[in-house]
Amino acid sequence: MTTARKFAVKKIGIIERYQEYLPVTEQTPIISLNEGNTPLILAEGLPREIGLKNVRIYYKFEGLNPTGSFKDRGMTMAISKALEEKSKAVMCASTGNTSASAAAYASRCGLKCFVLIPEGKIAKGKLIQAYRYGAKVVMIKGNFDQALELVKEITKKTKITLVNSINPYRIEGQKTAAFEIVDDLGDAPEYHAIPVGNAGNITAYWKGYQEYKKAGKSETLPQMLGFQAEGSAPIVNGKPVAKPETIATAIRIGNPASWKGALAARDESGGLIDAVSDKEITQAYRFIAEQEGVFAEPASAAAVAGVMKLAKKKYFKEGTRIVITLTGSGLKDPDFALSFDDKIETVEPTFDAVSESIMK
Ligand SMILES: *Cc1c(COP(=O)(O)O)cnc(C)c1O
Repeated sequence: MTTARKFAVKKIGIIERYQEYLPVTEQTPIISLNEGNTPLILAEGLPREIGLKNVRIYYKFEGLNPTGSFKDRGMTMAISKALEEKSKAVMCASTGNTSASAAAYASRCGLKCFVLIPEGKIAKGKLIQAYRYGAKVVMIKGNFDQALELVKEITKKTKITLVNSINPYRIEGQKTAAFEIVDDLGDAPEYHAIPVGNAGNITAYWKGYQEYKKAGKSETLPQMLGFQAEGSAPIVNGKPVAKPETIATAIRIGNPASWKGALAARDESGGLIDAVSDKEITQAYRFIAEQEGVFAEPASAAAVAGVMKLAKKKYFKEGTRIVITLTGSGLKDPDFALSFDDKIETVEPTFDAVSESIMK
């Protein structure tokens, strides 16, 4: 008879890792896909490119979460709590990543999942995730902000649980990314750059940094630097945008639900919220993939573009650290990824033909 092999490796997600900082109890069922624990990748090319020799820049690469975006941190909490509260179904409005994440975590515990998405503006990778994880997907002839209003109304009138970031458990889960950064660096960085769409994430990071400092885990707090796309920059403009437009579909939001949270993060941290153009976003998107080997989606690149823009204005002090959250994987948006002028060349299967082709 053979003895059973013991597996020593126990992988844990953010709830088990940070439960003392989260609203969970012994009664909370933990629905996890081992989210979190994402790498903090040291940028090599970016500091050189923007002339910051004495500044260390790190990418917090959230595209390596189970469904390819930071949304998983909030969703493990929101779905676990929905199950604890005996909910049978969840619903969200989504520019794509929230629905992918909600669908995955719901499928893991047998909850029904309904997602409402704006017509035609969802990156293909995100859409196929919602379908393959088995969600009921409804596309509306409208934008994200309209979808969210409808989800609020439906979840108010039914027993379906809303899992957008106005669900406070989402913010609770997402704040753990700030904990991980402090755990990795030994203290908070001087600056934290992040894209801003519905503004839940900037709110969550600021909450996380503050709570960790209160718990004695860090001595300092970062300046929070949020970036919106120029065509959908309600917070920068100080008023909602009726028809938001940008190639960065994950931040194509005209009336952010956590507007106040974003302003608090900006003002209390002494940071800023600025806008970057689609051109700047595209340049940053290509730069980090082509020069750093890090493939993130366009919305994530907005934060990189923001850091590039501020560096030109000599914003950053010497000897400091900047963390940039790369919110989602570049694989999410294959159509955008293939929208450039790369030519696929087909040649004869011979040594000479291939040699000639690669030497061009
Ligand atoms: C959701 C999302 C954002 C925006 O985050 P908010 O919390 O809505 O501000 C940015 N990038 C990606 C990839 C996202 O999925």
